[in-house]
Amino acid sequence: MLAAMQAKHYEDAMKAKAEGKPVVWSASIGLQELLETMDLTVVYPENQAAAIGARKAAPELIANAEGRGYSTDLCSYARVNIGYADVGESPAQNIPLPDILFCCDNLCHTVMKWYETLAKELNIPMVHIHAPFVYGDDVPERTVKYMKAEVENAIRQLEEITGKKFDYDKLAEVMHNSNQTAYWWKKAYSLGMKNPSPLSGFDMFNYMAVAVCMRGKKEGAELFKLWHDELAAKAEAGLGPWKEGEEEKYRVLWDGIACWPNLSFTFKTLKKYGINMVVSTYPDIWNLQYDETSLDSLCDVYAKHYANRTIKHSVNTICKHVKDYDLDGIIYHSNRSCKVMDFRTYEVQRQVQERTGVPSVIFDGDQTDPRIFSEAQYETRVQALLEVMAARKEGK
Ligand code: SF4
Repeated sequence: MLAAMQAKHYEDAMKAKAEGKPVVWSASIGLQELLETMDLTVVYPENQAAAIGARKAAPELIANAEGRGYSTDLCSYARVNIGYADVGESPAQNIPLPDILFCCDNLCHTVMKWYETLAKELNIPMVHIHAPFVYGDDVPERTVKYMKAEVENAIRQLEEITGKKFDYDKLAEVMHNSNQTAYWWKKAYSLGMKNPSPLSGFDMFNYMAVAVCMRGKKEGAELFKLWHDELAAKAEAGLGPWKEGEEEKYRVLWDGIACWPNLSFTFKTLKKYGINMVVSTYPDIWNLQYDETSLDSLCDVYAKHYANRTIKHSVNTICKHVKDYDLDGIIYHSNRSCKVMDFRTYEVQRQVQERTGVPSVIFDGDQTDPRIFSEAQYETRVQALLEVMAARKEGK
């Protein structure tokens, strides 16, 4: 179902473009509710870049962007996508070229500059929602007010560009569907708290395509409910993540984005040692649940998205996961691409270690640029973690 839904999502987008309908490229945690309400065809370049990375076709698009002067230090999702916008074709995953760009910088400021660049190169309009950084535990009222004004302005821009009126009744329906998708997404992956966990966190990475691309659609909620029911039945029967005889010996958290080109190696190396990734800070980001009758609540939730918050928030989140998921260890992906997440990794690791005592390792990698990741380094770090986790278990 997952594969079929993904394929249909991209086929529909290509068809819409061929029929002359406007296509939007949106940041993955943009307020898709507005686009869905306007009945626009939306594709997500980050998701496409991840798919291209997983199918090992990123290097030629990266080479195109770097060849045209974009720095290797730029996020590789941006480099893959900027390369794609120039070439317009990838054997790994095609998407139609955009007519509108839509982004919210709750994710990072890279995405804003990346979309500005595309708007200039492709000469198309860009709608941008600014989300002020959240420094405290809660989103201040003034931030919600400010973001609401940004959202209203974005709605006006979309109306102007498309020549269509925004329908607030349809928005209510879309917010309901999005809430349901987030609810079942969270409920399903939270079953990783069971011991043994009926899921491997790498399943979450696979299902993320739907969490990103089909948040506002009923089908997203239906798929996650089905996945939840299947996992719940496994948990009820006491089944672990893998086949019979393959025991979950250690439970870990994965911090950061997956290494899409190395998904199989990173998964198999953990599995070989009986290590199951039961939770990750990354898929958790798409747990965007709000009061579906309130635009204020929508703004509040988008503003307090994980990447738009402090080190303290990251530390608190991970410490809570350590307890809730009964973790033996943590693996931090020092992702060369994602400065917003990775500049803070070493400090987050230090504080989590201090508060929980749970051992951890950091490895170097990248979400789509295969040049950064080393299989040998990854496995050595995993082995080091394994030794400490084993010693702690014996000590217990
Ligand atoms: S991976 Fe990081 S830098 Fe790249 S778009 Fe996502 S949040 Fe921004």
